[in-house]
Amino acid sequence: MSDFACKECHLILDEKSCPRCPDSEVSREWQGFVEVLDPEKSDLAKEMGIRTPGRYALRVR
Ligand SMILES: [Zn+2]
Repeated sequence: MSDFACKECHLILDEKSCPRCPDSEVSREWQGFVEVLDPEKSDLAKEMGIRTPGRYALRVR
């Protein structure tokens, strides 16, 4: 798995920086992901504080 995940917002990234949280660290150590299409209708998205559609890691270490 070559992707990175942002430690702040859990967004899965192709590069080593998060466009939303430039100061946040990224990690290769993440597990599972959820594809959020409509954050308004997803309980998981609300729980995770996700407000923008995208792929998010469930766990980031
Ligand atoms: Zn981020």
